[in-house]
Amino acid sequence: MSFEKLKLIKPIQLALSDEGYKIPTPIQRQAIPVILERRDILGCAQTGTGKTAAFAIPILQILCEEKEEHRSKRIIKALIVTPTRELAIQISESFNAYGRHTGLTNAVIYGGVSQKAQTDKLLHGIDILIATPGRLLDLMQQKFVNLHHIKLFVLDEADRMLDMGFIHDVHMIIAKLPVKRQSLFFSATMPPEIIKLAKYIVSDPVSIDITPEFKTVEAIKQAVYFVSKPDKKKLLYHILRNEKVSSALVFTRTKHGANMVTKYLTASKISADVIHSGKSQNARQRALNNFKSLHTKVLVATDIAARGIDIDKLSHVFNFDIPNIPETYVHRIGRTGRAGLGGIALSFCEDEERAYLKDIIKLIKIQIPVIHDHPYKLSGEGVQRAEQHKVKLHSQEKSGTHKKSGSFGFYKSKKKRWGRKPNTNKAKT
Ligand code: AMP
Repeated sequence: MSFEKLKLIKPIQLALSDEGYKIPTPIQRQAIPVILERRDILGCAQTGTGKTAAFAIPILQILCEEKEEHRSKRIIKALIVTPTRELAIQISESFNAYGRHTGLTNAVIYGGVSQKAQTDKLLHGIDILIATPGRLLDLMQQKFVNLHHIKLFVLDEADRMLDMGFIHDVHMIIAKLPVKRQSLFFSATMPPEIIKLAKYIVSDPVSIDITPEFKTVEAIKQAVYFVSKPDKKKLLYHILRNEKVSSALVFTRTKHGANMVTKYLTASKISADVIHSGKSQNARQRALNNFKSLHTKVLVATDIAARGIDIDKLSHVFNFDIPNIPETYVHRIGRTGRAGLGGIALSFCEDEERAYLKDIIKLIKIQIPVIHDHPYKLSGEGVQRAEQHKVKLHSQEKSGTHKKSGSFGFYKSKKKRWGRKPNTNKAKT
C-alpha cells in the first residue's frame, strides 16, 4: 500500500516524498485513516514503529483542512504530551518535516532550560504544542498556555509517564482540556493501570495493536559475549576498533558507569559522549545532536536518558551491562533496526548477569548466539558457567518463529524499508 491510498493532501504527500517515505508502516496504515475519520485511538505501539508519523500526519491534515476556515487564527489546536525532553524535540522535528508545506506551526516546551525562548514562541502564536508534563503545567499556571481550543490531544508513551511518576500531572492536564476533542492514546505496554487511565481519556476508541517486542527483536542481529567485568571496556574498545561500527549507542546501568566508559573511550582516542539524567538538558541535547550528525561515533547512555530517542541509521547497540528488567533489553536494542533497517545488538555478560540474560531470552523467545572468539574470553569454570545461560525454547523452536543461531550473519544488513511481510495485526474496533 502506498501513501496515496491514504488520501493524504498534496502538501503532506510532497513532504513524505521529501523524507523518502514510500510505504506506510503497519501502524500508519492502521491509524491514519481512523484518525482522519475523527475517531479516538487506543494504540499499543512503541517508538521505532513509525508511530510519530502515524499521529502527526493526520493531525496536520485535519488542521490544514480546518485552517482554510480559520485562516487568521493561530491558537493551539493540537496538544501532544510526551514524557521526555528528547522525545518532545523529536516529535516537534517530525511535525516540522511532515508539515513543512502546510504553513502550520508548532512549539516544543520542556523543563531543564530557560522558558524564555519557549514563551516567546507561544506568544507569537502556534497551531500545535508538544510538551512534557511538568513544563506544560508550569506554563499553563503562568497563563502562557491556554488549552481551551484543543481539538486533538495525543498522550504518547503513557506507560513511561506512569513509570516516571507523571500520572498526577497528566490528570491535571486532562482536566483542563475541552470535553469535546479527539484523543489518541499510545503506550508500549497495556498493564491494568494504563487501561484505566486510557478509559478516562479516550471515548469509543479504535484499538490498534502493533506487537512491538517480537517484531523489533526479529529485525536485529544479536549476540552475546561472556566477559569479566574489568575486561568489558577493553572488549568494547576492541570491537569499536576492529569491526565495522559506524555509530554505537552503549548502555550502562548507572550514570557512574556511563561516565567511566566515556572517559575510557575518549582517552583511547575514540570519539564518545555521554547522556544521563545527571547532565544538563543543553549538554544532553548537544551530545545527541553530535551523535546524530555522526560527529561523535559513540554515545554512552543510561536507560532513562535514551529510551525512545530516534537515531537514524544507528549501526550498533551495546549492552555494556545486561539490564535486570528484560523489557529494557527490548527497548534498548530497538534503538537500532528502526523503521525496518537492520541493526546489530551486542551484549556483554559478566558472571553475575547470567540470570538477567536468561530472563531476556525467555522474553524474546530467541536464543542469542554467543561470540566465543574474542581476546577477553573467560577461561575454565567461567566458560562452563557461561554455557549454562541457554534457555529451553521448545515451543518456539518447533514453530520456527525465531532465527536460529546458525542464521546469524554479521554486517550483512538488509537495508530494506518496510519491505517485510505485512503485519498480521488488525485494527480492532
Ligand atoms: P518513530 O516510531 O515515530 O520513532 O519512527 C521511527 C523512524 O522511522 C523515524 O526515523 C522515522 O523517520 C522513520 N519512519 C517513519 N515512518 C516511515 C516510513 N513510512 N518509511 C520510512 N521510514 C519511516
